[in-house]
Amino acid sequence: MQFNTQLLHGKTSKGYALKEMLPPISQVSAFRYESMEELEKVFEHKSMGYAYTRIGNPTIAAFEQRINELEGGMGAICCSSGMSAIASALLAVCESGDEIIACSGLYGGTIGLLHDLEKLGIHTVFTDDMTEASLKPLITEKTKVIYAELISNPSLKVLEVAGAAKAAHESGIPLFVDSTTATPFIVRPLSLGADIVIHSTSKYLNGGGNSIGGIIVDGGKFKWDTGKHTALKEYKKYGPMAFSVRLRTDIWENFGGCMAPANAFLNFIGTDTLGLRMERICDNADKLAHALDGLKGINANYLTLPSHPYHRYVEEELNGFGGGILSFRAGSKERAFKIINSLKYAMIASNIGDLRTLVIHPASTLYLQASGQETEAAGVYEDTVRVSVGIEDVNDLIEDFTEAVKGAVE
Ligand SMILES: *Cc1c(COP(=O)(O)O)cnc(C)c1O
Repeated sequence: MQFNTQLLHGKTSKGYALKEMLPPISQVSAFRYESMEELEKVFEHKSMGYAYTRIGNPTIAAFEQRINELEGGMGAICCSSGMSAIASALLAVCESGDEIIACSGLYGGTIGLLHDLEKLGIHTVFTDDMTEASLKPLITEKTKVIYAELISNPSLKVLEVAGAAKAAHESGIPLFVDSTTATPFIVRPLSLGADIVIHSTSKYLNGGGNSIGGIIVDGGKFKWDTGKHTALKEYKKYGPMAFSVRLRTDIWENFGGCMAPANAFLNFIGTDTLGLRMERICDNADKLAHALDGLKGINANYLTLPSHPYHRYVEEELNGFGGGILSFRAGSKERAFKIINSLKYAMIASNIGDLRTLVIHPASTLYLQASGQETEAAGVYEDTVRVSVGIEDVNDLIEDFTEAVKGAVE
């Protein structure tokens, strides 16, 4: 089965209690039982069943199983947001005294979270270069996880997953990949050696900009029982399941960041069209980037432009696609604002992955809290405009941006 067929006819498109075409929304807080013995068995994990929606719910499970199937994982856990997913995943493997190696230029919220973790005694070593050779010397006894974004936003650095995974695995460390901007349509990081994949489902998986959510997918191959991860020592007996068991029965369950059942449903129906949307979005982004790059006073940043430093990964890792995000430098902040304000179709909003084209000036919004160094590492300058390309007719988008740029440059 190919991607779109798997989406519509895969395992998770069937098997609902009353043969519904889609997973029904179980909009309940709790599930009732006929006898106390039955509920006891559910709590003891001796029989399958749901007890309380923070711990499990069939609508949420349907979405978990679908993304797990698309990513080729062993199991997945939905969270209330992408940030909740990242925080839960990191706290499941790190404790005070441990270290994380992360790429610089991460999503702004993730940088903020890593700063918060410092106060809990979990230190992050940032690096610009996530290649196998440059990761190796950074790994110490304290390192417990390597964390990276597959396609960073908006700098568009591409992680060479196989190389980073090799460096990590040689030292008994897992590789966690935030694949929000890539999606399983473009690449499946687990198949390239990543151990855990994280998404903000708020973006391309939902696709319609109608609910916040996150998900963690466990590849199920990492060896957690070497003794290196003291945060997991009580879970070593679960072998390759140790991470997922700790997450589900401890960190995730107790921090309480579950997804709402209605959001799981919206995410589920959103992913039905993931393949179609991504194909159109990537095609639009490619055409818009080429058109922008030819305009006077504009310097466009998109992976399929031959001048892009990560251009070769489009064919080597990303199956020929460049994703839905592009950015360009307008020459000055004033000019960037002028261009953004005069766009007819592109909406000013701090989101990505919508059906509609969205624009923002990241330096004055998303990176307001970050240091100058962090901002530049993220490829964000005073004159940078970020575009999350939508599914509009591309000629309308090209005309809209061309007019706006000409009006601002003259
Ligand atoms: C949006 C985003 C997040 C955070 O997700 P939320 O759902 O907003 O909490 C994390 N990583 C990346 C790459 C994102 O784009």
